[in-house]
Amino acid sequence: MQNTIQHILEKETFEKPDLVALLSANEEERKFIFEKAAAIKEEYVGKKVYYRGLIEFSNLCGKNCLYCGIRAGNKNTHRYEVEEQEVIDAARYAWENKFGSVVIQAGERSDKKFVDRIERMVHEIKTLSNAELGITLSLGEQSEETYRRWFEAGAHRYLLRIEVSNPDLYPKYHPHNKKHDYQARLDCLHLLRKVGYQVGSGVMIGLPFQTLEDLADDLLFLREHDIDMVGMGPYIEHEDTPLFKYKDQLLPKMDRFYLSLKMVAILRIMMKDINIAATTAMQAIDPLGREKAVKVGANIIMPNLTPTKYREDYLLYEDKPCTDEDAEECSRCLEARIHMAGGEVGYGEWGDSKHFENRKKEED
Ligand code: SAH
Ligand code: SF4
Repeated sequence: MQNTIQHILEKETFEKPDLVALLSANEEERKFIFEKAAAIKEEYVGKKVYYRGLIEFSNLCGKNCLYCGIRAGNKNTHRYEVEEQEVIDAARYAWENKFGSVVIQAGERSDKKFVDRIERMVHEIKTLSNAELGITLSLGEQSEETYRRWFEAGAHRYLLRIEVSNPDLYPKYHPHNKKHDYQARLDCLHLLRKVGYQVGSGVMIGLPFQTLEDLADDLLFLREHDIDMVGMGPYIEHEDTPLFKYKDQLLPKMDRFYLSLKMVAILRIMMKDINIAATTAMQAIDPLGREKAVKVGANIIMPNLTPTKYREDYLLYEDKPCTDEDAEECSRCLEARIHMAGGEVGYGEWGDSKHFENRKKEED
């Protein structure tokens, strides 16, 4: 009798029960998922892995997500904002080393000083690189006007994870107030598309109270919302957060890792031409985690370009890797590791989401 997993993998479209079965695949069965995802990746997006140099601009945050180490309520964190010149230097490094793109990420703030500063830096990065460097932002929920200003300054991609797609689960991981509202987050994803960004989203995997059915719904959410780029990875507990008290209910870290790997592979099969990141949280559990993700479907890696002196203060979760290596050391070893995973680095290319390009062509 044919293996159920292989049978499901032959289907054109996965429904929720198919996804739950795939997510439940054991060690033997998951190999079929990984093989299929690798073949689809090669066919639709090729071998290339694109770099996005990550600049963790600031850990100042006005929000209090219950899982996050840099939440406003964590008084044990030393708060910083990278000097503007240091951001520009990091971007110049990315451009000179043919990284193709940078990502500016930070805690969420919407004060005028912050919005102006981001706009100015985006503009400066565009200018210094003769518009060659692509710019992704990951700065949380903002107004349409702010999104538009940053877009007009030169950013063209935006990452905003929905974190969990089930509106009933969302309040389990966020305080119950207007600042942490599921609908507001969803509205922001729509605004980003309206303004013209390539829209990225994603979820955390292995949260307490989360079931395989929830993760199947997360995959369906990403497909239904026609997301262009996805970053998702394991939830990793942080001692100074309210969610830490559920640490004994979590799956072992390695199980969370393999569940994340399955999520990446299944999503690649479902959404063949999107960009999928091999996230740092995967590397936090398995030192070769990002390379394993590249093998089964991911095509984006975000090497950390934050000046080293700030890195240990941007601890979203425990054991965050690469906090003490400098940029050069990191990217040299990374290239070798990508080759080992059968990939090649797309130097000097934006590596935009083919899904976005294909949708644009259809609209024209
Ligand atoms: N403030 C912005 C961007 C910085 S946080 C925002 O929230 O969108 C970036 C991502 O880090 C979040 O989307 C979340 O998915 C992830 N993150 C935060 N805490 C985490 C944890 N404990 N484990 C794994 N990922 C975490
Ligand atoms: Fe702030 Fe983002 Fe962390 Fe939430 S996840 S507390 S918005 S940095």
